[in-house]
Amino acid sequence: MTTTNRIFNFSAGPAVLPLEVLEEARENLLAMPGVGMSILEISHRSKPFEEIIAGAEGDIRRLAGIPDGYHVLFLQGGASLQFSMVPMNILPTEGSADYIVTGSWSQKAVKEARRVGGVRIAASTEADNFTRVPTQNELTLDPDAAYVHYTTNNTIFGTEFGYVPEVGNVPLVADTSSDMFGGPVDVSKFALIYAGAQKNLAPAGVTLVIIRDDLLRRTPSSLPTMLQYPIHAENDSLYNTPPVFAIYVMRLVLQWLLKQGGLEAIGQGNARKADKLYNEIDRTGFYRAHAQPGSRSRMNVTFRLPTEALEKTFAKEATSAGLDGLKGHRSVGGIRASIYNAFPENGIGGLVQFMQQFEKRNG
Ligand code: PMP
Repeated sequence: MTTTNRIFNFSAGPAVLPLEVLEEARENLLAMPGVGMSILEISHRSKPFEEIIAGAEGDIRRLAGIPDGYHVLFLQGGASLQFSMVPMNILPTEGSADYIVTGSWSQKAVKEARRVGGVRIAASTEADNFTRVPTQNELTLDPDAAYVHYTTNNTIFGTEFGYVPEVGNVPLVADTSSDMFGGPVDVSKFALIYAGAQKNLAPAGVTLVIIRDDLLRRTPSSLPTMLQYPIHAENDSLYNTPPVFAIYVMRLVLQWLLKQGGLEAIGQGNARKADKLYNEIDRTGFYRAHAQPGSRSRMNVTFRLPTEALEKTFAKEATSAGLDGLKGHRSVGGIRASIYNAFPENGIGGLVQFMQQFEKRNG
């Protein structure tokens, strides 16, 4: 495999990783320098891995400027397990949590929280077919809620919060699976952030959790050990065997992000890429964006064509042209171009050119 046979991968996740990261992982796959063994073969208790996981944590703290008083955890079970772990740890059975519903993933989070305690819907944009996120004014918040939960970026519908909800003193919990480190993040506004890493951060297998220390004191001791945040915090995410390879690749991605100039620079690049694509979508009316202006995702760009038949042909012909993974999620239909951090800018140019040619032939 040479770099020249790499196509443009618009998959929603697992998704494209930086080429330099893949090259380094390949380079060191048989024997890590100075170790003489593969990352796939070493103990999670070995010094080289301790350096990798501590290095990853350090890079995350540096990238996001995480203030004191937070733990960074590397867990398993995906963001989906966090739908359960969050309420199991911090929602008292007799308490109530506020959920902002902006798509399928927030609905799934609600479903799991309801198994544990009370859930209030603080806002939902379902009536608008999830074409937008609510404004701050639309949020009806309970000042006594155990926490407020929201999804920063709605991977399926292609909408994203352009603001962090103001929730007073109630802890704010965010599922950032599909836009984590897509731009600057002010961690101090959050009590808990989680992200399945397989979009913007790493291959599948690791889930990043950033949790404020006061939340670690809420966990009921009856909870199964592996589900307790404090256990993972006390053990530096090494209570049991962590996903060694995924954390190793995450470290490489984090170093790549730092090399790009950090989150400010990454955010600017993502805005440039997304703007270019939305401009083309808006240009003639042949393509129609699913998300309303003001709620449009920088990461997952969703749009429709005049007919479903044309959408099918579009996705098929795009794949043949080396632009893969563009078929929208089955619940929305249409086209979805996922353009995470590692998606190269020239791939956007490729898609725009393909869109123009396709419109000429079919418009
Ligand atoms: N939340 C969001 C916003 C997602 O995009 C996804 C995955 N597509 C999930 C949660 C579920 O993640 P996982 O597959 O890691 O459980």
